[in-house]
Amino acid sequence: MSTTANRHIPSTGRDEVKTEKMHFECMTCKKMFTDRWFEVGRSFERVRFNRPTAMNEVAIRCADGIGVFCSRDCRDSCRGALMRSEQVPVPSDRPGIEPVERCAKCTGPVDMSDWHLTYTEGECEEIGFGVRVNDFDYVAVVCRVCE
Ligand SMILES: [Zn+2]
Ligand SMILES: [Zn+2]
Repeated sequence: MSTTANRHIPSTGRDEVKTEKMHFECMTCKKMFTDRWFEVGRSFERVRFNRPTAMNEVAIRCADGIGVFCSRDCRDSCRGALMRSEQVPVPSDRPGIEPVERCAKCTGPVDMSDWHLTYTEGECEEIGFGVRVNDFDYVAVVCRVCE
């Protein structure tokens, strides 16, 4: 399983001048915090498989944070409920980036080179004007039929 790829998140087209840090409220413990957060996200993704000549590229659209947490523990304790509300089970065997992955709902094939619903999680860090994502992982992918 590999989750190594260049990820392209489309720009919103806005050119905001940021004067303040982003503030978050943890969905689990309700603590307010800044700088670094643990996120569960939902998006549509499509992979261009370039290996072994180049990095695989992941195109992303409609990226949406569905859960923000202050710590890994808070995220882990809420992930099940969050995904239940999305009606998508978390597979015990997490998907990666292979040409075909398994749908979390029906266990049928998901063509990763075509647009598909994707749930991800990562540790995010606000750096200057951007966001760096550490420790990125796939939670689930969903096939066209189950979307
Ligand atoms: Zn928390
Ligand atoms: Zn399915």
